Amino acid sequence: MIIVMSTEASEDNVLEVLRRLEDRGYGHHISRGVERTIIGAIGAPDGEKRAVAEQLGQLAGVERVVPILRPYKLVSREHHADTTTVNIGSFSFGRDRVGVIAGPCSIESREQILEVATKVKAAGAIALRGGAYKPRTSPYAFQGLGKEGLELLKEAGAATGLPVVTEVMDLRHVEVVHDFADCLQIGTRNMQNYDLLREVGRTSKPIILKRSYAATVDEWLQAAEYIASAGNLQIILCERGIRTFETATRFTFDLAGAVHARFETHLPIIADPSHAAGNHRLVGPLAMAALAAGLDGLMIEVHPHPDRALSDGPQSLTPRRFEALMASLAGAARAAGREL
Ligand code: PEP
Ligand code: MN
Repeated sequence: MIIVMSTEASEDNVLEVLRRLEDRGYGHHISRGVERTIIGAIGAPDGEKRAVAEQLGQLAGVERVVPILRPYKLVSREHHADTTTVNIGSFSFGRDRVGVIAGPCSIESREQILEVATKVKAAGAIALRGGAYKPRTSPYAFQGLGKEGLELLKEAGAATGLPVVTEVMDLRHVEVVHDFADCLQIGTRNMQNYDLLREVGRTSKPIILKRSYAATVDEWLQAAEYIASAGNLQIILCERGIRTFETATRFTFDLAGAVHARFETHLPIIADPSHAAGNHRLVGPLAMAALAAGLDGLMIEVHPHPDRALSDGPQSLTPRRFEALMASLAGAARAAGREL
């Protein structure tokens, strides 16, 4: 970190900062300018940096303390230059091909999930999604079929040969979801549920970590660091829209944030245009943009009858629309030098 002294700082103020750094085991390098003194702290012990920076910021004569290293390490590109490969079933995210995960918001019935599974598979999806435990804004809205939903999802996966992805909302469900799913999804509302992040980090299943709709990219990557630091680096990040002042769309699709994240992390990044848009008409254009911008894949909601869906019908594509979209996505992927 770099400690910038104020223009009024006295020599005693500077000496006090140096003493504190030495007490904490840091080396230092002083640069005395005409206007002010700047101190570089060297060799910070891991773990304490943030607290030490905050403490130094309180000392007389210190104007500000600027951290140099990123607050995450295992997931940073600085630490590991090549994009990590994360497998869901036999598909590898982070390589030459982009992958599309598709399925309904919620698993509603055997017929529904089997029909979607068959149709998204035929259209080229590499995994089937579907929620059994649903994080709904209202406690009176459909909450998902729970374990029965997991059983139906697994059955549909087995019938079509598609690996299955589903959300785990609660620590108490990690075990059962782990038993049924090939990939665990952490939803936007749980991105900062640190106990849950640690718990899925102890599993060896791939994890899709959705960005909190209220999180900066930095916070998103620190959430990924929780999972990684518990031992699981099989993480795919998913941009699904953030909340802004704009109300024309359900959320604001932050493609710039997702592209920025690609420079910061070696983890594969996919986009969920369905939740960002909240409207099926916007899903295709946003999906195209995400692939053309070089993201590693997509998650898209598909329902056989969006007009009868128990959740997220307005943003769901019909199987026919999904098939048409898949046909046009290859070109978008190619724009970024990838294959679908
Ligand atoms: C979902 O995938 O259906 C979902 C609830 O997503 P999010 O957590 O991004 O809202
Ligand atoms: Mn949904």
